[in-house]
Amino acid sequence: MRDVGFDSVHIDAVGNVVGRYEGATPDAKTLLTGSHYDTVRNGGKYDGRLGIFVPIACVRELKRQNRRLPFAFEVVGFAEEEGQRYKATFLGSGALIGHFDARWLDQKDADGITMREAMQHAGLNEADIPKIQRDPARYLGFVEVHIEQGPVLTELDLPLGIVTSINGSVRYVGEVIGMASHAGTTPMDRRRDAAAAVAELILYTEQRAAKDGDSVGTVGMLEVPSGSINVVPGRCKFSLDLRAPNNAQRDALATDVVNALKDICERRGVRYELEETMRAAAAPSAPAWQQRWEKAVDALGIPLFRMPSGAGHDAMKLHEVMPQAMLFVRGINSGISHNPLESSTNDDIQLSVRAFQLLLDNLAAEQAH
Ligand SMILES: [Zn+2]
Repeated sequence: MRDVGFDSVHIDAVGNVVGRYEGATPDAKTLLTGSHYDTVRNGGKYDGRLGIFVPIACVRELKRQNRRLPFAFEVVGFAEEEGQRYKATFLGSGALIGHFDARWLDQKDADGITMREAMQHAGLNEADIPKIQRDPARYLGFVEVHIEQGPVLTELDLPLGIVTSINGSVRYVGEVIGMASHAGTTPMDRRRDAAAAVAELILYTEQRAAKDGDSVGTVGMLEVPSGSINVVPGRCKFSLDLRAPNNAQRDALATDVVNALKDICERRGVRYELEETMRAAAAPSAPAWQQRWEKAVDALGIPLFRMPSGAGHDAMKLHEVMPQAMLFVRGINSGISHNPLESSTNDDIQLSVRAFQLLLDNLAAEQAH
């Protein structure tokens, strides 16, 4: 950031790397952008960091032209979006909206090191975290460029995608309780097979989510505790992860899936327990900001393709206090992510830089009016 000509660069109390390129006037409002610089263990190198690199490239060009925009430009490399080391996500972007939970500081990592100790070791002063909360009135909005992390754009042969919403999600852990019995002597019509009931639920979830077109439903954990090859499963534990582009669609999906579980269990003579473990609101893109991305992508001659984001992003946090919209960049290798095979191309990344520059130009023109 310093090399390309940002006016100020610092690391804040939570570990965000913050660079500012000031506007033409001191009272100018600020456009906020950025993404996370941490990643999952053995992950890819574009997830997050692409969204820091792209606006840095834009500032490099602005500085080269010695050009000031009618708004300030703030690029944040967010700390700890993924939440790998501690059971807390979005530490950096959360702190900017005043959502850093001080109780997290006492959490210990796998080696028994508290978050407080880790922060102090990194030279951070955790007591100052509340001070980095931003005043949304000083900001125009938040935009984020991110690698898609999925196969959609590469299958359509499109370099860029317009994000319509970051999916809302709800997660459950559950257990079906039937009756363990002899696999050889229990006739098929007398069984209380817990695993077969969950199998039906999985198939229902698959069909029900597919029906929406843009919802997703996953049973990622499935276990027959102390199961045995010659025993009808008496218990089956499972997880359920449901996501949709808006809260109403997510809730309708969840209602149907939970009702299906109830029906399946009644019909099969088994019972179930279900605990909701997480619920996150969808973050629909602000229409005006989504349109700014669309205008930029359209000007590049790229067909517009609108899509929800299945993964969570820092933009979700900023969404709570200011308008936001994201731009996706095609990943290659079938869009694989959270994997070292994650990649994109110079050409696609260059297009994302140009889209970002156009967004800045158009926003500058809007501000002039
Ligand atoms: Zn990411």
